[in-house]
Amino acid sequence: MSSLSNRRESPQRQHLLAQATRQALIKGARWAWGIQLMIAAFMWFHVQAMHDAHLVVEGARPWQLGIHVELLLLVLLLQPLLWYWLERWPLARWRKAVFILALLWGCLWASVIYALLKTELPGRGTMEPAIAATLLLVGLISFYPMSQVLYGFCLPILASLISQILINVVAFPWLFGSGMLILLILLETGRRMLTSWFVLAVDREYEQELMLKRLDAMAHQDPLTGIANRRHFDIASKEAIAQGARLNVPLTVILLDVDFFKPYNDHYGHQAGDECLILVAECLEESVREPGDLVARYGGEEFVVLLPETDCRGAIKVAERIRATLAARALPHVGSTVAPHLTLSQGIAQWQQGQTLIDLLERADSALYQVKEQGRNHHAVAP
Ligand code: GH3
Ligand code: MG
Ligand code: MG
Repeated sequence: MSSLSNRRESPQRQHLLAQATRQALIKGARWAWGIQLMIAAFMWFHVQAMHDAHLVVEGARPWQLGIHVELLLLVLLLQPLLWYWLERWPLARWRKAVFILALLWGCLWASVIYALLKTELPGRGTMEPAIAATLLLVGLISFYPMSQVLYGFCLPILASLISQILINVVAFPWLFGSGMLILLILLETGRRMLTSWFVLAVDREYEQELMLKRLDAMAHQDPLTGIANRRHFDIASKEAIAQGARLNVPLTVILLDVDFFKPYNDHYGHQAGDECLILVAECLEESVREPGDLVARYGGEEFVVLLPETDCRGAIKVAERIRATLAARALPHVGSTVAPHLTLSQGIAQWQQGQTLIDLLERADSALYQVKEQGRNHHAVAP
């Protein structure tokens, strides 16, 4: 449970949620824009038709209804200029920008609804609640991931409807007030429900990303020692060879094999053998440069070290450092005939232009074989 809440507070999850919210609001704002444009255009044609039929009797409002609708239409038609700017806006300031946009839309609609209330338009008795309710639903669907934006859009619209009570146009204010309350409840509960689905979807995506990262790490890691596995080494060394060829920089590998490991297992047991391999991996990691160099388990009791931008001389220094680090640990090995403690044999090969990874490893392996032949606990460089 606590690990779940830790994950929920993790910066990556917060970042993912912020990105998803931004994307959802951009899509929502585009959609809301299109729907508003349609409603505004419909109203404009409606007003024109009523004007032409001399059916509009203007009331006591600052401007004519037509002007309110035309102002709204103008702002909506200029909107596409804002999309470019909005999508490139930094995340922190972008929230404020969407809020201002939604508030602007909400206020313009409030002015249109207010003007409608003051205008005697045939059929207006049902028009403004219907338009307002449609707009509130558009707001809910588009802006639910951010409550400030949603209410920035919806509250001015609701306020313009409520102004009906104040200017005394409504026959049953309490009935009208209850209708408003239902609209508010619809907005808030709808917002919470949609947000919970949204957050759930983001959390699932986050969990999936985590899982993929974990699987990817596992696919590249040796389970016993925790260092890179052979697959990771193959990929990294092919990249390093390509880079060496392109930039003409040296590259060296060291192939390492634990001396008398079979006797070690036989004497101390398989479990101790595993612990011994973990210790060797630690010694190797201690002896190389981070991050550039790569230590990997090549298989069984064989390891490999990839040293990009390093020539033979550098590799010999690393091999000596490895030998010294392991000697300092002095892990007793009674089955060894070369030392009282655990030792390694190392074959070094420097990559030459035109060579493949297989060629390079074959040369390192011959050098290693040579060390084994000459008594172990040492290193040799392939010619
Ligand atoms: P040399 O000095 O010539 O390298 O002899 P060696 O005994 O080290 O080499 P050999 O190839 O004869 O034996 C390697 C042993 O490593 C045999 C195998 O059981 C053991 N081994 C391989 N992988 C593991 C592992 O993951 N854990 C343990 N405990 N032993 C392993
Ligand atoms: Mg071996
Ligand atoms: Mg061995």
